[in-house]
Amino acid sequence: MKYIPVIGLEIHAEMLTRSKVFCSCANEFGGDRNDRVCPRCSGMPGTLPVVNHDAVTLAAKAGIALGCTVNNYSAFDRKNYFYPDLPKAYQITQFEFPICTNGLVHVLDRDIRINRIHIEEDAGKLVHDDYEGISMADYNRCGVPLIEIVTEPDFRTVEEVQVFVEEIALRLKYAGVCDAKLEQGSLRVDVNISIMPFDSQEFGTRAEIKNLNSIKSIGRAIEYEIERQSELLDKGQKVVQETRRFNDNHGNTKALRSKEEAHDYRYFPEPDIPPVYITDEEISDIRALMPEMPQQRYMRYTNDYKLPADDAKLIIADKAFSDFYDSAVSVYPKFREISNLMLGEVNRNLNDTGKTIGDVPFSPEDIAETIKMTDDGKISKNAAKTIVKIMFESGGTPEKIAKDNDLIMQDNSDELEGIVEGVLSENEETVAAYKNGNEKLFGFFMGQVMAAAGKGTNPKLIKDILTKKLSNNQ
Ligand code: ADP
Ligand code: ZN
Ligand code: MG
Repeated sequence: MKYIPVIGLEIHAEMLTRSKVFCSCANEFGGDRNDRVCPRCSGMPGTLPVVNHDAVTLAAKAGIALGCTVNNYSAFDRKNYFYPDLPKAYQITQFEFPICTNGLVHVLDRDIRINRIHIEEDAGKLVHDDYEGISMADYNRCGVPLIEIVTEPDFRTVEEVQVFVEEIALRLKYAGVCDAKLEQGSLRVDVNISIMPFDSQEFGTRAEIKNLNSIKSIGRAIEYEIERQSELLDKGQKVVQETRRFNDNHGNTKALRSKEEAHDYRYFPEPDIPPVYITDEEISDIRALMPEMPQQRYMRYTNDYKLPADDAKLIIADKAFSDFYDSAVSVYPKFREISNLMLGEVNRNLNDTGKTIGDVPFSPEDIAETIKMTDDGKISKNAAKTIVKIMFESGGTPEKIAKDNDLIMQDNSDELEGIVEGVLSENEETVAAYKNGNEKLFGFFMGQVMAAAGKGTNPKLIKDILTKKLSNNQ
């Protein structure tokens, strides 16, 4: 390729506060239209906004999660524009003094600098399909607290952008800031992209692409834009600075508005909200309250629990799954066994049933108990898998499922002792070789006893009896 792409992101994340950012309406999704609206968030004249303390705390947590400085002083501004989803005709945001600045996130082989994180309110939504030719306004989303994360133009490849967005989503989830669902719009990514000739130091003119609601469409949109801009430059034409919309069905981008038509937002300080002061002490209190982040959890799994790196990554990639795993190992600390069962049988059943770990009709304790029953020799490893499958279908405790389905292994120790003695006396020379140090022969004895005892015999029991008999100085 003759050109190097230069990419910067603007990411909006809806914060998980109980109420909206400047009023006490519930911050929830769904429900009937306009049933979570009050005079303040519907922009009635004379009402006064009050900043939600939790929104400030969560924004600071987002900053800490992305390596930013949390600023002692931040302030709100009005961004003026008219659109029917914004009843006040201005959005309250932070322009000159954002709450967080100067972050750094390392992805693949690159350091991505975070320019700023600021707090702002979301706008409502227009509903176009209910009546022919008429659009209706739903203000439920007005005043939902957002943070906007702005990166420097530090990305050079599609993959870096995709890995970064996944990493940000994960960190925001772990920090409890946002549930970060691209498809549902709780995390929204705008991509700024330009290209420059290989030997150039100077960035080209950028286009901004909005409306990207999956990791995949982020990739497709960037690739399309690189093509489009390369063709323009190849023909000696110029890229114009504009906002474009990505069309998922066609896989292309179309101009929405150019820089010339861009709004003049007439930013000015919000007169109804005093600046936000956070002391150093408050910032360190928030830092102390930060939950365990994915990077820390990764260290715990690989260093303390000795899980393989790939397994640790797989578990951590889904916070609910990872929390479930943590609860299971807190009851019964067999880290590797529980990890294997969850990444194997539990995941297989999740995929087959289309469920997430949050929907399953059994608890982490049930998984711990299943592993414990295997360890105690009550059930076989295969039976453990069967139990997981049945728990998916109909719930129930592992004990009861094992009993109801004849999965409990027989404890026929007396009979087994006889069989073991028989096998050993028939193979005196091999026993002697074993006692002289050829420990590999243990497998041979196991095989012989298993064959004589028949299926369904508990291998652990055989092993115990064999070990005992072979170590006797008879
Ligand atoms: P503005 O002030 O015009 O909004 P910013 O400097 O704030 O522009 O940048 C907005 C976004 O565009 C940021 O994510 C930034 O990384 C990105 N960006 C800026 N310049 C370029 C460029 N030449 N190519 C690609 N992205 C860019
Ligand atoms: Zn309200
Ligand atoms: Mg900007």
